[in-house]
This record gives sequence, C-alpha cells and structure tokens, in this order.
Amino acid sequence: MSGYVEDLMAQVKGKHPSEPEFHQAVHEVAESLSLVFERHSEYRAAKILERIIEPERTIMFRVPWVDDQGEVHVNLGYRIEMNSAIGPYKGGLRFHPSVTLGILKFLAFEQVFKNSLTTLPMGGGKGGSDFDPKGKSDLKIMRFCQAFMSELFRHIGPNTDVPAGDIGVGGREIGYLFGQYKKLRNEFTGVLTGKGINWGGSLIRPEATGYGAVYFASEMLATRGESLQGKTCLVSGSGNVAQYTIEKINQLGGKAVTASDSNGFIYDEEGINDEKLAFLKELKNVRRDRIKEYAAQYKSAVYEAVDPHAAGNPLWDHPADCAFPSATQNEVNEKDAANLLRNGVYVVAEGANMPTTYEGVQVFLNEKILYGPGKAANAGGVAVSGLEMAQNSMRLPWTREEVDARLQLIMKSIHATCLLTAERFSTPGNYVNGANIAGFLKVADAMMDQGVV
Ligand code: NDP
Repeated sequence: MSGYVEDLMAQVKGKHPSEPEFHQAVHEVAESLSLVFERHSEYRAAKILERIIEPERTIMFRVPWVDDQGEVHVNLGYRIEMNSAIGPYKGGLRFHPSVTLGILKFLAFEQVFKNSLTTLPMGGGKGGSDFDPKGKSDLKIMRFCQAFMSELFRHIGPNTDVPAGDIGVGGREIGYLFGQYKKLRNEFTGVLTGKGINWGGSLIRPEATGYGAVYFASEMLATRGESLQGKTCLVSGSGNVAQYTIEKINQLGGKAVTASDSNGFIYDEEGINDEKLAFLKELKNVRRDRIKEYAAQYKSAVYEAVDPHAAGNPLWDHPADCAFPSATQNEVNEKDAANLLRNGVYVVAEGANMPTTYEGVQVFLNEKILYGPGKAANAGGVAVSGLEMAQNSMRLPWTREEVDARLQLIMKSIHATCLLTAERFSTPGNYVNGANIAGFLKVADAMMDQGVV
C-alpha cells in the first residue's frame, strides 16, 4: 500500500505544484486511507479519494477597492467548493496576507472530513483573500468586505455554499459581508454563519471552536480516568479559538499559562485567570493591539518575541500537561513536539487547522500520547455553524444551554467515532487514523450512491 500512497502523491504534486500545505494534508489522509483500501477495493476502483482531492469548483477573482484616502487597492479573492456529497459547501473565509490557493485547498480538503465527522449534513469548502485586516480602520474593512462580497455573492447561497469566519474574519467582517449579500440579493437568509445574535446568529457560535477543543481534550483524558482539573495548559494564538479555549480551561479547573500572536508570546506562570482573560479579549477584540501589552499590564507574565525562522518556538518549551495549538498551520514542528514531550505534555488538542508538521505528528503518534488532530478536535466551530443553519431554517433560536449541550454531545460523538474507527482498523488510540477514516467513509459512501458526477 505504501506504493499506492507514493504514486498518488506523485500525481497530486504533478497536478498541483508548489502547494506544500495541500500536499501535506493529502499525504496524511492517504496514509490513513490505505488501511481502508486494503479491505475495501471498491473505493479505490471508483477513485473516490482521487475525486475528493480535486475541488468540485475553484473560484478566483479580483477584489478592487478604494480606501478612505481614495487610493485604489487590488487583492485576490478565492472560494474553493471542495465537496458537496453530504450537504452544501461549508467552511470559513480567511483574510491574511499568507493566503494562497494552496493554503485554501489544504483547508477545504480538511474541511470535507471534519464536516463529515460532525454528524451534520455539510459538505466542505473554504475561501478568503490575501487582504491583511491588521491595523486597518473599520471603514477600510467595510469597503474591502463589500468589494469581496460583490463577486462572491453570485456563487454562494443557503442551500449552495455557506461561508463562515476564520483567521482575520470575525463578527465585524461577517456583519459587513452579510450586509452586502443582503443588499445585492434582496433576501435575508442564513447564507453566512457566525452572524450577530440579533440578526440570525447562534448563541455559543463564537465560543464553539475553543470550547469544543477543550471538550475533546476532556474526552481523551477520560479514557485514562482523568480530567482537566489541575492541569497546566499551553495555548498558542490569542484570537477567537485561543480566547475561548482559555475560558473553557478555566471553567474546567485547568490553568492556561501562555498566549501568543504572530510577533511573540506571553508566559504567565500564575495562569490567565478570568480577569486577565477579560483584559486579553479587550486587547485583541476592541483595541486590536499586540499580546506584548499583556506583559506590560501583568507583572506575573513575561513576553518573548518569536523569530518565525528559528528552529523552534520557545512557547512550546515550558512545563505543562496539555497543549492547545490555536494559531495557524505548521506552528508545531518536530523539535517543538519533542520539547512538549520533554516538558511533560501528554495531551495535545488542536484548535487550529493542521498546526503540527508531518514530522511533529509522527513524534506524538510514536509516543502514543493523547493526540487529537484538528479535523476532530476543532470541529465544534463548524458543528455550531451547522446548528446556526438549522435554527435559520426553522426561524427559531435555541437557548445558550441547548446549543452548548448539543455541542458537547457532538464532541463526545466525534471522539467516540474516532476511537472506535481507529480500533476497527487495528490502530487503537490513533485519533489521526480514526478521524481520517471515519470522515472519509461517510463522504465516500454518499459519492458511491450518487454516481460519477
Ligand atoms: P483569529 O484571526 O481570531 O486569530 C488568529 C490568531 O493566530 C491570532 O492570535 C494571530 O496573531 C495568530 N496567527 C495567525 N497567523 C499567524 C502566523 N502566521 N504566525 C503566528 N501566529 C499567527 O483566528 P481564529 O482564532 O479563528 O483561528 C485560529 C486557527 O483556528 C486557524 O488555524 C483557523 O483555521 C482555526 N479554526 C478556526 C475556527 C473558527 O471557528 N474560528 C474553526 C476551526 C479552526 P496575529 O494577530 O498577530 O495575526
């Protein structure tokens, strides 16, 4: 079977050159699926994986916009409609200067498996732009969002493709995008998720990815008869996912000691308690300032700048029990993974998408720690987006308690499915295989039923 993976990867690299993150995501899934193809040759014969790898549709467009000084800017816009076998395309929009076609294809590919795991009927997609919202006025952000939606609106719809937020796209951006969609279409529909509560949003959606990652970690710990109570946790990032990861760690009796942004990280040995977290939220969501300011505010914390070209990230080199990478892709490399283990970490739940390099993942798998890959551990965000779609269709909002209870149930179900599937394919405890295989089987069976389309 290793010959199969090598041949497939040679094809993928030939057809999709210069997209290393996409190759990495496909490679990891193909390795897991070789266990399936040994037992089920029908999927191979129908070239199901080869079909999942190719987006059903790739939309690329220019986004010209005029800033508040009258200067004209041109950004690139994308939407990857990856797979619609089990539901409308669903996945976030990312606004970040590092966005390329390859990055969005890796994210859209991962999303197909993740959405399948949620138990909800959602296909996979992803989109975004190389636009950098950092340091821009609200007016510039609004103008850009309107220009972006002026093209995107003709490709999306509540039964076709339902985007949400991701890096650089939070409540503010979703608001501007939704406003422009509504104006152009003259209809009020659940075309985006992550909306404001007063205009069709779901309670718990902002919290869902972070809370879900912590619920997933709790489920993994429970397999060893343990809980998060008293556990020290390393968290990276300081955006949406990181903030609500820290909040839930605190609620479950753990202690989060780090947070970061793209310039550096803070280490607060005493823990980022609720009062400090409120400051962090204000710093990042309202003042939109840098994490360095946290250390200026709290003497218990030290700030360290991070060189992205260094061999490793010192954030991952502190004593702890659990780690929640919640910033961006490939932020934990082989050296970081080894440092985590040396410092006592034995639980890793990925809030970010593919935050660990291929080599880093092998370190975790070889040591058989409790390692929850992003497509399982961070699926709570899109799961609650699915619940937002359900509420929009019914035109009935659910209470906070109801949505949170459903989120917990979904994370439990994803965890159990991963564990059972890993066992069924003779790799007990391997959540990577469990997530990839279980996510694949549901989509693959739907594709088999629907013929070659
Ligand atoms: P935000 O934009 O809210 O926050 C992103 C955080 O990560 C910021 O602290 C940012 O720092 C940091 N960051 C971004 N890019 C880099 C980089 N290249 N190097 C170092 N740090 C970086 O995004 P989210 O919290 O929503 O997303 C974080 C991760 O979680 C992403 O991988 C995303 O795909 C994933 N995810 C998000 C979901 C959601 O519901 N929002 C759902 C599932 C996964 P800075 O401010 O300096 O840029």
